Amino acid sequence: MRFSYVSHLYCPKCSKNYSVDDKQNLCECGSPLLVSYDYKALKEEWTKEDLVHREADLWRYHELLPVKKEENIVSLGEGMTPLLTMSELGKEYGITNLLMKDEGLIPTGSFKARGSAVGVSKAKELGVEELAMPTNGNAGAAWSLYAARAGIKSHVVMPEDAPMITRQEVHVAGADLIVIDGLISDAGKLVKEAVDQYGWFDVSTLKEPYRIEGKKTMGLEIAEQLKWNLPDVILYPTGGGVGLIGIYKAFKELVELGWIEPEKLPRLVAVQAEGCAPIVKAFKEGKRDSEFWTDSTTAAFGINVPKALGDFLVLEAVYETNGCAVAVSDDTILTEQHHVAELEGAFICPEGAATFAAAKKLRIDGWIKEEESVICLNTGMGIKYPETVPMNVSVRSKTERL
Ligand SMILES: *Cc1c(COP(=O)(O)O)cnc(C)c1O
Ligand SMILES: [Zn+2]
Repeated sequence: MRFSYVSHLYCPKCSKNYSVDDKQNLCECGSPLLVSYDYKALKEEWTKEDLVHREADLWRYHELLPVKKEENIVSLGEGMTPLLTMSELGKEYGITNLLMKDEGLIPTGSFKARGSAVGVSKAKELGVEELAMPTNGNAGAAWSLYAARAGIKSHVVMPEDAPMITRQEVHVAGADLIVIDGLISDAGKLVKEAVDQYGWFDVSTLKEPYRIEGKKTMGLEIAEQLKWNLPDVILYPTGGGVGLIGIYKAFKELVELGWIEPEKLPRLVAVQAEGCAPIVKAFKEGKRDSEFWTDSTTAAFGINVPKALGDFLVLEAVYETNGCAVAVSDDTILTEQHHVAELEGAFICPEGAATFAAAKKLRIDGWIKEEESVICLNTGMGIKYPETVPMNVSVRSKTERL
């Protein structure tokens, strides 16, 4: 048995192949690269039973991850997050089998930890010494913390309106934090110039092929947690869309291995905020890629991505699974965030709350049927977003009776 069955990188647009033993970014044609494995050997040599006694983290799937040597793994214990039943909320929505995959319990407080755990481990394997990225917050936090653990120096460029807590995470990790008076797209341009000049490794979303591999483990976990019987619908808060692309890739790989039935793939739903909904607009127009969304705005900052590099892969996943793309307003997002906490005791992030608002909407529209099994993905913990819960409680005298 090999530790990893990774074989090569390939371009989903022009089919050109690249080696996994060199540092790679985009394909010559400008498309993100995807990771391929030796599925034939994996099918013969790897079984579901091999998983039974493994640790409850994402490295339990190491055969289907790109890190070749176990000693290169950089881990903070990420993965195997709970899949919770949401029965009270389900009753209210009229969905009998409503579940939540809760990524709030992961190191760094958001599911970005998955992508950075695998991305940083692979960077270490490839001998990267310094990496750089633009970020809206959570990715920068996760990458700088994992990079610190790997002994890799990181340079993180953030817009000034990115949440303070994520800035603090980058700072405490000892990373080089640059805050700019611009947008994520401006941060991206600065990073591009700097990597050309200084030779840092560019780990911007999808410019680095291994982040998707980390995020695909959400799909592998969902399958394993449901005993290899997939749900009918999965709702995912979509910014760059890496998670959705990853989950779809996971399911296709499990089909390839014969671990799940091809006709039973869940309908994947890309959920966006009304203030930034390029994928939803493209979906409504039946298009295969999206256009830049100007003046984007939403409280769910993790999904404030006006133009995703992998938009065509997100749309493909949605079309191929008979899924859909829906936008919800910030008001409904914040209402659902309260609702989930009050009814189920889970303080989720606004991006996660968007998936509940979308589930409710799709149930009302009849797109989701009462008896269908539905998973909402909560991508981070609510306590990273204190500003989403404004309150004003006055202090009373301790001599007053309750
Ligand atoms: C980054 C982020 C998202 C969006 O993730 P993509 O996979 O890039 O679409 C959703 N929720 C949170 C909390 C995030 O930080
Ligand atoms: Zn290409």
